[in-house]
Amino acid sequence: MAATFRNVVVWDASRSAAELCDVSIENGMVKAVSQAEGEVKNGDFDGKGKTALIPGFVNAHGHAAMSLLRGLGEELPLMDWLEKRIWPVEARLDGDLVRAGTDLAILEMLASGTTCFADMYFFMDRVAEASLDAGIRCGLSRGIIYDGSDGKLNENLTLAKDFNGEKGLVNIQLGPHAPYTVPFDYMKKVAGSAAENGLGVQLHWLETESEWQLLDLPRDLTPEKYLEESGLLEVSNLLLAHCVWTDPERAEFYARSNVTVAHNPKSNLKLGSGVAPVPEMLAMKVRLAIGTDGAASNNRLDMWDEMRFAALLQKGVRRDPTLMAAKDVLAMATYGGAQGLGFKNCGHIREGCNADMILIDLDRPHYMGWDFESLPWYIVYAGSSEDILMTVVAGKTLYERGEFKTLDEEAVKARALEARKRLTAA
Ligand SMILES: [Zn+2]
Repeated sequence: MAATFRNVVVWDASRSAAELCDVSIENGMVKAVSQAEGEVKNGDFDGKGKTALIPGFVNAHGHAAMSLLRGLGEELPLMDWLEKRIWPVEARLDGDLVRAGTDLAILEMLASGTTCFADMYFFMDRVAEASLDAGIRCGLSRGIIYDGSDGKLNENLTLAKDFNGEKGLVNIQLGPHAPYTVPFDYMKKVAGSAAENGLGVQLHWLETESEWQLLDLPRDLTPEKYLEESGLLEVSNLLLAHCVWTDPERAEFYARSNVTVAHNPKSNLKLGSGVAPVPEMLAMKVRLAIGTDGAASNNRLDMWDEMRFAALLQKGVRRDPTLMAAKDVLAMATYGGAQGLGFKNCGHIREGCNADMILIDLDRPHYMGWDFESLPWYIVYAGSSEDILMTVVAGKTLYERGEFKTLDEEAVKARALEARKRLTAA
């Protein structure tokens, strides 16, 4: 499919300011980006200088089908929440339920401008199918909680064999859940397997204050040594979700070309986990991304919320309004996440990049006064998902002005409600 967007205000993380451009796409890629000529041909989209075109958001950490678990076990500490409310319900999940929950999550993500999402969960073949049917990009892993067998690792490897690279939309990672659910020796095995198969890894990393102390590890095995000695640093892409309890003085350690930190400010706040040292990591040029985490600990899958929290949280806690510039936050929410999930050619609006983009209506009251320099501030501090006009993945329009092009919204909601009933029935 070919399309041309004229008179659109283009911003991406590689530009110092937004620009008024014409953007043409062909075969799922950006074919050309040039200065707007003002002329509009039949069939072109005319942004009239009042529509922003930016890269789609990449939700870099989450568990999509947890959309079915929203509201369960509110206001409990992380371990109680997991052990008493979440894991017992998750034990009842099956492929159909995961599919229903994933479809529901995809509705929410597309409507709020997310074009790519990370997922670590179960029945991931059904998640891959849901994503491919919807046409959304994704980085998927089978969550591995060690149970004494290789079953889950093998499932993850089968997922890679069946879906890695599918339609250019799916990247598969291995998903060892966390150091507290995967013994160190097994983590080494998973890391070795990822390196051998050319796969990335996503895992939860230092989310809560006490988790590291609970591990039965030699005293001198610091988190940084753990990463080195496990082999995790050898994999092509390592996505570390949370990093709340990283020593800020060790931030430089994480500034490696294959490591991305996925910051989940709302989930960290809601579960009382703490505030990640993101300003230090940003200063050290650590590759950073933003995620929502699952809907049961957020409870929205809305990257606009996440960006605003990421920016405001640090300013308030550190009492320093100069921290977390909006353009950096926007870069984290777009380019950073795409890199973390191994999509090298995503996250910018440039010739030859994948055409993953969103159109934002700047003709709304809260945008009056924007200019090319200040656009990121308007988007991060004043914007919201209600401003999304269109969500495009690989050149295909998946959502436009309240309408889903590849999903039947009412049917998805009905199936999700039915699934929720089955899941939570005593
Ligand atoms: Zn998580």
